[in-house]
Parts: sequence; C-alpha cells; structure tokens
Amino acid sequence: MCDVTRPLTTITEEQEMLLGEIRRFNSEIVEPRVREMDEKAKLDPEIVKTMFEMGLMGIDVPEEYGGSGMTFTDAILAIMELAKVDPSVAVVCDVQNTLVNNAIRRWGTEEQKKTWLPKLAQEIVGAYALSEPDSGSDAFALRCKADKVDGGYRLTGTKLWITNGYEAELFLVFANVDFEKGYKGITCFLVSRDMEGFTVGKKEDKLGIRASSTAELILENVFVPEDRILGEVGKGYKVAIETLNEGRIGIGAQMVGLAQGALDHAIAWAKERQQFGRPIARFQAVQFALARLDAQVEAARLTVLNAAKLKENGERFIREAAIAKFTAAEAAEAAASMAVEIFGGYGFTKDYPVEKLFRDAKIGKIYEGTHFMQLQTIAKMLLAD
Ligand SMILES: Cc1cc2nc3c(=O)[nH]c(=O)nc-3n(C[C@H](O)[C@H](O)[C@H](O)COP(=O)(O)OP(=O)(O)OC[C@H]3O[C@@H](n4cnc5c(N)ncnc54)[C@H](O)[C@@H]3O)c2cc1C
Repeated sequence: MCDVTRPLTTITEEQEMLLGEIRRFNSEIVEPRVREMDEKAKLDPEIVKTMFEMGLMGIDVPEEYGGSGMTFTDAILAIMELAKVDPSVAVVCDVQNTLVNNAIRRWGTEEQKKTWLPKLAQEIVGAYALSEPDSGSDAFALRCKADKVDGGYRLTGTKLWITNGYEAELFLVFANVDFEKGYKGITCFLVSRDMEGFTVGKKEDKLGIRASSTAELILENVFVPEDRILGEVGKGYKVAIETLNEGRIGIGAQMVGLAQGALDHAIAWAKERQQFGRPIARFQAVQFALARLDAQVEAARLTVLNAAKLKENGERFIREAAIAKFTAAEAAEAAASMAVEIFGGYGFTKDYPVEKLFRDAKIGKIYEGTHFMQLQTIAKMLLAD
C-alpha cells in the first residue's frame, strides 16, 4: 500500500498523527458506509459529526478562533488521505477548509472571524455559492442581485451546483450590487440558511461524488444586514478569484487521493487475481500499467504539495495551483480507468470500489475551474509579456 505522504521528507510528527487518525476514521467509519452513501446519494451525518470532533473542519483555523491551528499543507494532506477512500467525504472537508474558512480568515472583520470561525471549525457546515445557471466558467457574469436598502441589502437570484448545499448553515453568496460597474459590483455576503426568502432547492442526481450534496439555492428578496458583507462592497470578485486559486490546490489533493486509492486497489487485485495459473501482476503488461500510474500519481502529488507550500510561504502560486489541479485530474482519471481494467469484469460492477472511483474522477476536470480553464490560466501566465 502506498502512502500519500511518502514524498515529503520533512513530514512532522503532528502530520503523521493526523494522517494516522484519518486512516482509522477511513477504515472504521467511512469505508463501511461508502457504498450505501453512493447508492442513496446521501452523506451519513455520523461522518460530518466525526470530522468536526476530529478537528478536520477547521484544520488551519488558528486555535484562538476554535480551530486545529495546523497549516494549509496539513489540510491538503488530510483531503488527500480522505479521498483515497471516499472523494465525496474529502470534498466536504475541502470546501469547508480551502474555500469557506479560508475566505473568512482572509477577508473577514475581527467580529466576523470571532462569530463564524469557531462555529465552522466545530459545528456548522459552510458552502461557497458563486455559480449560477448561466454563469459557470464566466463566473463574473452572475445575475444574482443585491439591492441596497436601509441597514443592508436585499438579495435575489438563483445559485446552482452548490456543494454542501443540503448540510450547510452558512453560505458565502456572491451577488452584484451594481451591474453598471460590471464585475466591480460583485460583493460577497454571509447568508444564513434560516434567513427569510432563502431556500435550498433541487439536489442534483449526479454521476459521481454522489454522497456530496450539490444543490440549487433560491434567494427571494433575502435581507442581509450590512455586517454580513465579507470584504468590501464591490470586491467580491477578488474574494472569489483569490479563494478559488487556493481551493484549486484542494481539488488537486482530492484527485491525487482518489488516484492513489484506485492504484492501491489495482495493485492488491493484481497480486491476488490468478489467470493462466499465476497472479496477473506477473504479466509485464499489468506491471507496466501499474508502474506508469505510479509515476503519474507521484508527479501529481508533488505538484499539489509544491503549490501548497508556495501558498503557505506567501509566494506566487497561481500557475502552480492550476498545474496541480490539471495534473491531478489527469492522474485520477487515468488511475481510476486503468484500475477498472485491471479488475476486469469485476471492476465494472458496483461490488468493487473502483467503479465508483471511476465515476468520481470525472469531477476533477469540471469544478473549481474546468480543465480548459486551468490551461487558460497556465497559458496566460506563460505568454504574459
Ligand atoms: C458536483 C459539482 C459541484 C460544484 N460545486 C460548486 C460550488 O460549491 N460552488 C460553486 O459556486 N460552483 C460549484 N460548481 C460549479 C462548477 O464550478 C461549474 O460547473 C464549472 O465552473 C463549470 O461551469 P459550467 O458548468 O457552467 O460549464 P461552462 O462554463 O458552460 O463550460 C462548458 C464547457 O465549455 C468550456 N469553456 C467555457 N468557457 C471557455 C473558454 N473561455 N475557453 C475554453 N473553454 C471554455 C468549459 O471548459 C467546458 O468544457 C459545482 C459543479 C459540480 C458539477
């Protein structure tokens, strides 16, 4: 069995402990529930509850705000480890840490940090609501509007594809306060589930990561007080871009974990499955397929850890984050697809975990910037004068 932390020569004792706890959580709590959660398209509440208890929902939130006080790289390692067993569980942890907590830490007032970070680290799930029916890659073409009224704003619009939508109690909602200003009207609001006029709509029936809820949000004249603006009015585009640049490293981690999980299953199966009187791992074609994947997964892992370290050290990481997500999404698709082939007919059934990983892998090329959008970012930086 390969270890996702292997390339890190400087792994700390604290990180070892965190990963050890996640491995135990994976085998005792997650693994027995994966198939049923996938079939029912529903996350078991026990999983979310345990992630809070383990401190996985506020990994790099400072202890003074009720978090675990660890680093961004620790959060990335945790997402990787979770994704080896269930990428749906990993994305719950990923969105909470790399998008929601991260945005509040970075852009929140002291009051907002004191109010929301301890809750997010210990008891409530958050969601990040940017996409809409007609604005995905072109996110700043969003139509959700925020009209100024006494003491705050009234939000009206529809958000689509919102991860954690069914579980979340706090939503980072992006809306435009002045369409004449274009993207410079976009503002981020902290919206609570119980606000009047706010409804969680249809839950998507998806190909993969089925246990992770993806929902529509409907906002009908929702009053959001002034003190619920995250960052400045008109600076929501900055909150969105900068948070997503970091979130992308988390999706890279999710895809590396998925790829490693698929490869581990394929290796175990190849050693066990006998054909022509010997384990299929004795055939060079199978050996080379596994070796090629090992090389691809290792390369992806290093790009993700490199981007995480650059971000953590306050260095430029936008190109590296795009490369990490791109490389990891390719590795995940390749590993999950080959794992199905190595399992043969068994791999094509739901009785073995590789079928689910194959379906789960596809999302790596879609959310938090599609595969083409990552290439666009990389190309833009390559060709800049
Ligand atoms: C399971 C799931 C969870 C999600 N979670 C969230 C969430 O929590 N919060 C949130 O805000 N959003 C979320 N999303 C939305 C996701 O980020 C968008 O689906 C994604 O950004 C793509 O947007 P789109 O679906 O509108 O596709 P489109 O933007 O319509 O893209 C369609 C195709 O056109 C290509 N394309 C578009 N523009 C260009 C261009 N300029 N150059 C080249 N190719 C281009 C794309 O690469 C893609 O292949 C989620 C989506 C899914 C499926």
